[in-house]
Amino acid sequence: MAKKQSFADKSSKRAHQMICPVCQETLQFVKFTKSIKTDAGAWKFRTQNVGVCKCNQAEVYG
Ligand SMILES: [Zn+2]
Repeated sequence: MAKKQSFADKSSKRAHQMICPVCQETLQFVKFTKSIKTDAGAWKFRTQNVGVCKCNQAEVYG
């Protein structure tokens, strides 16, 4: 049987990863481009890194 890892071990090894406080899943960071229509009628694109888990994957991936 695999050795049980403590939460501290996991978080120190995977400091760049984040766990969703709601579902306890590891968040997958994806580059998400959002298009925003300005008042002038032009489209602006904003890219951001979004952490995706089962709570919001439906909204992010559409
Ligand atoms: Zn979640």
